[in-house]
Amino acid sequence: MAVKCKRCKTNNAEVYLAHSNLNLCPSCFLLLTERKVKHTIDAYKMLSKDDRIGVAVSGGKDSSSLAYILNSLFEKIDVALIYIDLGVPEYSQHCLEKVETLAKMLDRELIVYSLEREMGFKIGDFKQTIYGRKICSACGTIKRYLFNKIAYDLGLTKIATGHNLDDTVETLFNFYLEGNVEAMLRLKPYLPRTHPKFVPKIKPLIGLTDFECLLYAEYRGLPTRTIECQFSRGSRMQRRKELLNMIAEKIPNFKHSLMNSHFKRILPNLEIALSKHEIKIYECPSCGMPTSLEGMPCHFCKLTKTLRP
Ligand code: AMP
Ligand code: ZN
Repeated sequence: MAVKCKRCKTNNAEVYLAHSNLNLCPSCFLLLTERKVKHTIDAYKMLSKDDRIGVAVSGGKDSSSLAYILNSLFEKIDVALIYIDLGVPEYSQHCLEKVETLAKMLDRELIVYSLEREMGFKIGDFKQTIYGRKICSACGTIKRYLFNKIAYDLGLTKIATGHNLDDTVETLFNFYLEGNVEAMLRLKPYLPRTHPKFVPKIKPLIGLTDFECLLYAEYRGLPTRTIECQFSRGSRMQRRKELLNMIAEKIPNFKHSLMNSHFKRILPNLEIALSKHEIKIYECPSCGMPTSLEGMPCHFCKLTKTLRP
């Protein structure tokens, strides 16, 4: 006999969420997923009603789900989608088409920032530089800088990204391995304004797993990319995520517990312990945007300088 949905007790269950031991039908799954996101937003006080949010959409399952959920939860809040065209052959065009379809579906403005048009280079140009073997990390720096710059220039009050639980636990795992305490202090579900030119960042999907985001996008029929970026760091990150999933098979709420203890217990204590060593923020002498580096160009300017002859 088919298993019934634990919530409505009427429909047949199609989804099993091991971490909460729930069998759900598609419509109850969608409803509970949206409630979880709402709960995260409320718990971390991520939004207020006069916010103007820029949702960074990549064409992936996470950010498409995020845009859909924010749009339906907060009909009255100003939401615009931001897409950065990194100029990766085939891939960037493919993703652009997906986010264009998404923006039409949600009837929200799509801001497209083309790296090539605005800055005169493509992400692949780093191949020829000392960052050639670290393209993904260079790309991450470029994207973070631009999300902030675009939102700042447009007067947006929050930037939302689609980072989920699996991304966060994988990142935390690395920081622990490296003992990278500074990076740990910056990784937060809600990063408030620490400088007038820093736009606050929020990660409303931080409580959802990869699996939940994938299912959500599928059940809602959201447009999502079907090809991989040719520079993708994929394999290493993927392997670490698989490893963490193996632990979660034995301890179903492992990822949830790790994240909760980190944000609720470890991080607040770290902040108190390190409060004497206040992290200073300077302005880049080259572009004027905020940076942790004193008296030298910010990471973005340092990177882009390598592309100039
Ligand atoms: P990633 O760094 O690829 O793991 O992506 C993390 C988050 O950054 C995504 O969920 C999106 O919110 C955002 N993002 C990544 N790539 C882009 C892009 N090309 N344009 C806009 N947002 C992006
Ligand atoms: Zn149900």
